[in-house]
Amino acid sequence: MKNITVIGAGTMGNGIAHVFAMNGHTVSLVDVSQEALDRAMATISKNLDRMVSKGIMDEAGKSATLSNLTTHTDLNTGVQTAELVVEAATENIDLKLKIFRQMDELAPSKAILATNTSSISITKIAAVTNRPTQVIGMHFMNPVPVMKLVEVIRGYATSNEVTQRVMDMSRALGKVPVEVNDYPGFVANRILMPMINEAIYSLFEGVAGVEEIDTVMKLGMAHPMGPLQLADFIGLDVCLAILRVLHDGFGNPKYAPCPLLVNMVTAGRLGVKSGEGFYLYKSGTKELEVAGNFKQLN
Ligand code: NAD
Repeated sequence: MKNITVIGAGTMGNGIAHVFAMNGHTVSLVDVSQEALDRAMATISKNLDRMVSKGIMDEAGKSATLSNLTTHTDLNTGVQTAELVVEAATENIDLKLKIFRQMDELAPSKAILATNTSSISITKIAAVTNRPTQVIGMHFMNPVPVMKLVEVIRGYATSNEVTQRVMDMSRALGKVPVEVNDYPGFVANRILMPMINEAIYSLFEGVAGVEEIDTVMKLGMAHPMGPLQLADFIGLDVCLAILRVLHDGFGNPKYAPCPLLVNMVTAGRLGVKSGEGFYLYKSGTKELEVAGNFKQLN
């Protein structure tokens, strides 16, 4: 599969396009927003510069990678020659169903249609297409050029052949694919999100402060980042959306999102992307000062 289309040029889309282009694929990056496409190209260029300065790549490699990339605001021109499409648009079920209906019409009939969704059912997405055996989850981790894992999610109808091709493609990109079945949250977020939610509950119930909770998990469990900082990094709105998928999908109260998380998202306090979450990010990087006075909750 040489020709790849990536739909959505945000945080994940630019990283996915970067990795495919770096490995010699021709990549069409599609977004409804020209501004998002320009930002994505600038981010890819900056990240390639970092790889050159670290000696991971030379200048010729950078130029070759950039020349493998084209950008499109029109889905039609973007998917015309695709052999594999990886959708990484906003995490919204109605939007994804709309994009998959369009892709099913526009992409070549043999193309594999993959989604990078964090939590939406692959089976549900596949059901709106006429090629459910060729629809699959290809869940990259953030930041994509750095993180090794690809969670490969088989929908109810996904064929063995398509699964194998996506596993092989992930390996060819230098990633480690893991095959899982399509149940709410798959594996990564089914385990990660309850841990993050429990960390927020520990704060909400006054068991400990932000720094204390993160320090316990970093030093006690050897996690590279505490759960509250990780939630800021993922986006508190994204965490809330995934917890709601788990709660609705299993109907089990243990997945109910902590009221503090709900309040923070309602207040527009979304983590790194809004400059304020459990920590402050005035200059884009985490500052030691903890945002707000969480103690007043007790
Ligand atoms: P993002 O908000 O950074 O980017 C989404 C992009 O999609 C935006 O640029 C937006 O303009 C574009 N978009 C919206 N509608 C579109 C359409 N109809 N056609 C084309 N583009 C459209 O989001 P993100 O964090 O990159 O997440 C993208 C997907 O990846 C989501 O499904 C998310 O759950 C998943 N994901 C995110 C992370 C993470 O850490 N952020 C990790 C793994 C998976």
